[in-house]
Amino acid sequence: MNDAVTTVRAACPHDCPDTCAIRVTVQNGRAIRVQGDPDHPPTHGALCTKVSRYPERTYHPGRVLHPLRRTGPKGSGQFERVGWDEALSDIAARLKAIAARDPQAVVPYSYAGTMGLLQGESMDRRFFHKLGASLLDRTICASAGGEALTATYGGKIGMHVEHFAESKLIVIWGSNSIASNLHFWTFAQAAKRNGAKLVCIDPRRTETADKCHQHIALLPGTDGALALALMHELVVNDWLDHDYIERHTEGWPKLRERALQWPPERAAEVCGITAEEIRGLARDYGNTSPAAIRLNYGMQRVRGGGNAVRLVAILPCLVGAWRHRAGGLLLSSSGWFPVDRAALQRPDLIGSRKPRTINMSTIGDDLLRESSAEFGPKIEALVVYNSNPVAVAPESPKVVKGFARDDLFTVVLEQFMTDTADHADYVLPATTQLEHLDVHLSYGHSYALINEPAIAPVGEARPNTSVFRELAQRMGFDEPCFRDSDEDMARVAFAKDVSLDALRANGWVKLPLGEAPLANGGFRTPSGKCVIDSPEFGVPDHVPNYESPQGELAERFPLAMISPPARNFLNSSFVNVQSLRDIEGEPVLEMHEADALARGIAHGQPVRVFNDRGEYVCKALLSARARPGVVNGLGIWWRKLGVNGTNVNEVTHQRLTDIGRAPSFYDCLVEVAPLSAVAT
Ligand code: SF4
Repeated sequence: MNDAVTTVRAACPHDCPDTCAIRVTVQNGRAIRVQGDPDHPPTHGALCTKVSRYPERTYHPGRVLHPLRRTGPKGSGQFERVGWDEALSDIAARLKAIAARDPQAVVPYSYAGTMGLLQGESMDRRFFHKLGASLLDRTICASAGGEALTATYGGKIGMHVEHFAESKLIVIWGSNSIASNLHFWTFAQAAKRNGAKLVCIDPRRTETADKCHQHIALLPGTDGALALALMHELVVNDWLDHDYIERHTEGWPKLRERALQWPPERAAEVCGITAEEIRGLARDYGNTSPAAIRLNYGMQRVRGGGNAVRLVAILPCLVGAWRHRAGGLLLSSSGWFPVDRAALQRPDLIGSRKPRTINMSTIGDDLLRESSAEFGPKIEALVVYNSNPVAVAPESPKVVKGFARDDLFTVVLEQFMTDTADHADYVLPATTQLEHLDVHLSYGHSYALINEPAIAPVGEARPNTSVFRELAQRMGFDEPCFRDSDEDMARVAFAKDVSLDALRANGWVKLPLGEAPLANGGFRTPSGKCVIDSPEFGVPDHVPNYESPQGELAERFPLAMISPPARNFLNSSFVNVQSLRDIEGEPVLEMHEADALARGIAHGQPVRVFNDRGEYVCKALLSARARPGVVNGLGIWWRKLGVNGTNVNEVTHQRLTDIGRAPSFYDCLVEVAPLSAVAT
């Protein structure tokens, strides 16, 4: 037996802006330890609690080790073991038969279960493009903010995260950084030690808010109103960088007029905060340099999320914050990476066909739709990978009903028996990050990374790329691209600046960007300027929530609910890791004491969280983390590990954001009652 200890370079694949560089220690073919790589500048050797337990997840007794075929009713979790050859041949035959009627009846469903370019968006896309399957609009998390940022800056681009350490004012807007952006938080703390002021804007008093100098607990979905009022103050006090505005923005005069209609008193009423809080923040923002904003995706999960992101993204241009490398804004840095998606995904394989597009955020409705001229064919087959829609898609009563359809053929590539895998006809065992090759961009820093396989696949698990390569062969797809190896695809993943050889040599490659990349304009828009009056979206405005505490619906459902991630989970990943679940305990709803007392709810009592869409059972925590009028349903529990087989998406809805066609999870009114009370 070879008992030599080796260290392998890896990258964290999870949906987190940090994309940590990892070193995996392997002994006797077994991964015994994962550690952060201390040489990687933006993540410098620290992993979060979740991923530092990766061996526990990799060798988890619940890993799917063999292909499985359903034997019981959908959702029952009853399966039998089958061989790969039998499973793949049957799947290919079933897909072929459906595609012969209409390939659009086949729908892929994937998201960021891995952020890797190979296992997430390469051979799978080639396969579905060649098949002519429906396209998938991947909107579930970030498309409102992403498209808003692109409309404004021309791409998902922003500051280098390292430079936050030099900022003098940091506004953390819609982000619980300690839980979900740990390495940014390290830089923010360094700034704090150097005298910077930290302000947190979040409806929830998060662990991050606890550690900032100021917390502005606005109502969900009112960020646009706050940004407009900040602009009002910048204008009336002339805290503006006229030269930067003149040279590097277009459309400001119209927005200036709109901002003047938003004095702090008006915004304060909408946001549920005081006018003095707004004035104070504007004073700080207009008079501190360098000032930086760490915007995150929490605040764009409401009807007006896209407009709100555009408004916030314009602020650094108004004060010229971009002139300094420690000023500006970071929502996402992914647009800096020269990913060659045409080479990876081969959209040319679609040819002259024009497949319809299914929005992943409305899968609940779409699985229940019949064929029609408007919709196209009824969905007959779903192939799910890197995602757990039964737990994470909004309005889960409809999602579950759709996945339970007997006439739906469902294939799930998974590491574990998730809520979604329970509804599959076939479950195919997927490798974890320690078992396959991948290359990565980041949306929180500017380093590309490699992930080398550290161990052989556990059980009979296979990489996603291998599964789609095999399926392509069985479908008779004979283009040479279906024979590309993972290494072949890794070589073409980045169009320039990042070679596989350089990644292999160093573990990562820093993109050749300027230190203050927007100091002299250079936005990626056609004009090179920050676009304020967009040809597509006009001048940004505050867009009220679908479900507003001021509206009629609030008479029956008066509490606004947000559903941010529990600290030890990452979307629905890690919920099945016992040691992490033990820390979280059980599904909880944070409530302000006044809201709980008004409903006769005691701390720790089981409650029903409900509206017209459904009912979620969990435990009430009376907590200062919740502001009056807002409850925090921490997610995202697997339904089968929650109470009564429900999770927080039982009550969320499928209406979409103003920009980016994204779900508005945090735009949701509910009522809460002790579990024993009868529904009204
Ligand atoms: S989840 Fe984020 S912080 Fe944790 S290891 Fe992965 S990239 Fe790093």
